[in-house]
Amino acid sequence: MTLVCVVPCLYCDGRAILPRQSRLGKFQGLPNPTTASWPAMFLCRKCERTYLGLAGTIRPSDEQLPGPMSGHVPALWQIEFECERENCGEPHVLYSRWLEGDTAGRVEALAVSASSQVPCRDGHSVQIASTKEPEMWPY
Ligand SMILES: [Zn+2]
Ligand SMILES: [Zn+2]
Repeated sequence: MTLVCVVPCLYCDGRAILPRQSRLGKFQGLPNPTTASWPAMFLCRKCERTYLGLAGTIRPSDEQLPGPMSGHVPALWQIEFECERENCGEPHVLYSRWLEGDTAGRVEALAVSASSQVPCRDGHSVQIASTKEPEMWPY
């Protein structure tokens, strides 16, 4: 059986599946995260809260991908945005699991509604009204 690597949500049993190879690292059955990319912020598709994904929580799982194990199965969204609070402009990235039927617009709307949970500089929370076009990463 082929194992995928997942990042579990801190609040529920939701999980994000990591692509086999991306800037987050190599995840072919065993976690091999790129140190500079972790911890990373994730948006859970089950409880719709954001959580800090820690490299140490990445684990192999026998979770099924929504399709054959080819390079073209969608796995993860990358959503980039900047904090729009006055004099801030800090760039942020949220990662989110790809779900069947997803569109970039739906994922952007979720990210905007959840962004106030994302910590920014100096202790404030991110304020955004829109994101860059969310990018889908294949497995
Ligand atoms: Zn969750
Ligand atoms: Zn900010």
